[in-house]
Amino acid sequence: MTHMLPRERAEQILADYAAGKPVRAIARAYRHSGNTVRDYVHGRRTPGEPAARPDGFGPFAAYCRQRLADDPHLRAPALLAEVSRAGFRGGTSTFYRALERHRIQPHPCPDCYIARISGYAPLITAPQPRPSPLPLPAAPVTGETLASFLGRLATVNHTSPDALLEFLPPWFRVKTRWHDDRWQHDQLTPWAGDAAARLAVISGATAPAIRHALPAFGARSGQPARTVTACRRCTAARRIPQPVPVHLPAHHQVCLRHGIWLPGPGTPQFSVGECPDIMAAERQARRLLRHCTIEQLIYARTQAAHTPDGQAGTTRAWKRRLQALIEANPRTITESCPHALFLAAAYPETITTAVATIQARHNIPV
Ligand SMILES: [Zn+2]
Repeated sequence: MTHMLPRERAEQILADYAAGKPVRAIARAYRHSGNTVRDYVHGRRTPGEPAARPDGFGPFAAYCRQRLADDPHLRAPALLAEVSRAGFRGGTSTFYRALERHRIQPHPCPDCYIARISGYAPLITAPQPRPSPLPLPAAPVTGETLASFLGRLATVNHTSPDALLEFLPPWFRVKTRWHDDRWQHDQLTPWAGDAAARLAVISGATAPAIRHALPAFGARSGQPARTVTACRRCTAARRIPQPVPVHLPAHHQVCLRHGIWLPGPGTPQFSVGECPDIMAAERQARRLLRHCTIEQLIYARTQAAHTPDGQAGTTRAWKRRLQALIEANPRTITESCPHALFLAAAYPETITTAVATIQARHNIPV
């Protein structure tokens, strides 16, 4: 940041410039640096006012956009916690101002909604009928949404998800209505264990399996997640015919068992198993978490995607991978999601750049 000038001097400089005097001549006349003079004549600074302090948020805008694409239910406080863990040093008000300036809109807060409709007590204490086992059991998929699990359970047993919700505390209706499994109010947390036990009785799964698999019961709470459809080959292996929406750890991009690229909702999955370097990049990214947080990894990845090295769009290796992906997957898929295909083909370079950044920043030996 350049030197702040007394107001009269700064105004004199503007007057000289307006009169046609060149910057270098003004700088020489008043013995200021050319940059200081330029800041005033180009309007980057205002006479008499200290410079607008940079809030340091700029580089995190891409992170926030990426995360809101990954997880549309991410609310501002959770997003602030994430960018702080990724390295943002600003406080709450700086963060909210920056979101507004960058037109980034996190999910609205259902806490307010719930408080408005009822207060918390009825959500906890309303009596629920005694649960009994359904004829056909079902086991949850790791990270599965409550709506999906109840839907599958209801379908095989010829009942409705609403009928099953009767057996759970009423706040689970709020979760399914908001499609927001991960939201958990502190006051409700102690009851999650009892609710998991109820769902265990109905579904035939164990209560620990329910708590471990379903984010609605606190699985992986506090960890950044992305909303995707579970790997179709994983679900097919379990004889589940329909797509299963899940919350994955936010940095997971590939099913390593089946070599399936897992894009965001609405984009079809495709195979990347034919590209060993994409698979290797995914393994390397996951290993990196011994040295950094998920947030730091994603931050480095979003930054890498904006550097020439990370974009990789013209390298030979990138073209070779893109060709391999096109050959390995049905044309209907590759033609419907070119952007996802480009991202996958560039993934090794993106991760290499991200790894180098993290190693440099956190002093990790190679
Ligand atoms: Zn899989």
